[in-house]
Parts: sequence; C-alpha cells; structure tokens
Amino acid sequence: MLHGTSGTAAGRAVVPIGGVTPFSTLDCPGSISCVFYFQGCPFRCPYCHNAEFQDVNPALYKVSDFVEFLWPRKGFLEAVVFSGGEPLLFPQALRKLTKLAMDEGFEVALHTSGFAPEVLKKYVDDFPVKWVGIDLKASLKDYPLATGTEKNFFGEAAKSIHILEESRISYEVRTTIFPALLENGRLEALIKSAQNLGVGRTVWQVYCRDGKPDPEVKRRVIEFVRNGKLEAFVQVR
Ligand code: SF4
Repeated sequence: MLHGTSGTAAGRAVVPIGGVTPFSTLDCPGSISCVFYFQGCPFRCPYCHNAEFQDVNPALYKVSDFVEFLWPRKGFLEAVVFSGGEPLLFPQALRKLTKLAMDEGFEVALHTSGFAPEVLKKYVDDFPVKWVGIDLKASLKDYPLATGTEKNFFGEAAKSIHILEESRISYEVRTTIFPALLENGRLEALIKSAQNLGVGRTVWQVYCRDGKPDPEVKRRVIEFVRNGKLEAFVQVR
C-alpha cells in the first residue's frame, strides 16, 4: 500500500507513463476503466493515433502519481487498462503497476501489439488480467507495411495470439484498416492469415482521419465484409 507515501523511494520511482484517460467504457469490455498510456513503441504504424507515445521521453510520471490518481477512484472505476505506446516494452514497470492495481481490487486489461510473446507469456502467467486486446496488423507479407518497420513481426504476433488462446484470458484480435490495406488483395490475405492462426472472430477498426473513422475506408470495409459474407468473422468498428 503506497497511499500517502509520495515521499518514499517506492513512491518516487518513475514509470514511462505518458498520459491517462480518466474514464472509459470502451477499453475494457464490460468494465468502467481508466487508461494509462506507456511511452515507447517498437512500431511506426502509418496510421498511429498515439504518435506522441511512440518515443520514450524522459519518464516523469511517478508511482505515487499512479496511486494518487487511482486510489480515490476505488468503487467508481472497475478496471485499469495499460495501453500505449507498447506496455510490454517495460515489463518491470508494467508488472509493478499491475500488482499495485490488482492488490487494491482493480481489474486489469492490456492493449499490446504482440511484439514480445515471451514477455506476454510471463505477464499473463503471473497476472490473471481480465482482458487483452491484441493486434494482428496485416498478413505475413504485408506486416512491415502496417508496422513501418524493416523487421517482419508477424511471427511474434502469431505466437502472442497462440499464448492468449492457450491461456484462460479473454482476448480480442484487432486490426486497424488503413487505406493501403484496401489494395492488392491485402484484406483477403489478412482474412486467410487470421483464419490460419485459428482466430475465431476478429475486430476491424477503421482508421481515423481528423479524429473520426474515415468514411470512405469504412464504406469499402463494410462492402468487403458483406460481399465476402464475413459478418460472423469480422466485426467492423
Ligand atoms: S503499435 Fe500502436 S502505438 Fe505503436 S506505432 Fe502502431 S498504432 Fe502507434
């Protein structure tokens, strides 16, 4: 328990948190949550909606800030979501904050790109989190296009999905559909990849332009899903 210990070494320890959404009903299904955004991400997705968290800035957020935000909201907030950026880049900080939240009775959810399956496995083995949102960014061939990296991380994402499937943790596989994914058979390849991985149902999030889902991309995605009779497999958001 760290309440009122902002002057202690444990309370003064810094964590790479870049921002907080104090209230959300969208980020952990079925729970009222807040969202903490980790700084730092190994990817450079061309559509990134959290680009300010891609780089690791000098960490200024303290463990005591986390505690002082969260503890007064007990009984109102049910869950703490760790998003980013990429929380699994900082396993020690993620584990520390997860333990603090769980010890106080909060549910915990994680958003991850799945870039680090070994880190994910240890995390979900040690913490019975409520829910994980995991990205499958594209098919194998198109992965670097979607992540903006030279290295192809499809294998890491596939392993991470497998780890979640083997765990008892509820999870959702998500893809952000941005304009380039609409071309050259990339959606068809994505469907095949997801099905080959044994994904039962997937969510396609339409990429946002000026803070709103791009209407033309959304129209084409819905048309693709309808024409392919994929409604049972793909949920469009
Ligand atoms: S994985 Fe997420 S935070 Fe990282 S670059 Fe891609 S969209 Fe942005």
